[in-house]
Amino acid sequence: MVPGYVFDWNGLFPKKVVFVAWRVVPGRLPTSDTLKKRYIPVSSTLCPICGEVEETVEHVLVSCGIVQTLWSLISLWCKTPDFIIFCVRDLVELHKFFSFRKEKANLFNAICLVVVWCL
Ligand SMILES: [Zn+2]
Repeated sequence: MVPGYVFDWNGLFPKKVVFVAWRVVPGRLPTSDTLKKRYIPVSSTLCPICGEVEETVEHVLVSCGIVQTLWSLISLWCKTPDFIIFCVRDLVELHKFFSFRKEKANLFNAICLVVVWCL
């Protein structure tokens, strides 16, 4: 939970995409670690992407090696300066760190939110 965090809603994409991103920052996504805390049985606690580390929101969206490669490719595709993501909050605020015009910033933010939704 991030006290005082205010999420910027991006109206470019369906609410289901933005809603997932809204739930990411306070740690409300149903990853295996949060399901275990609620005593909900899970078949595997490993990351569904790499299968090497316990699944957490931070791992699946930020620190998983395969996902880091994906973010690098998105950086190349969107022609952004190189960036390093340290936490999930960085993902939803990444567009603020570049000197993009408003339209490009909103579009880049939407791309990041869709990737978060897909992951
Ligand atoms: Zn992984």
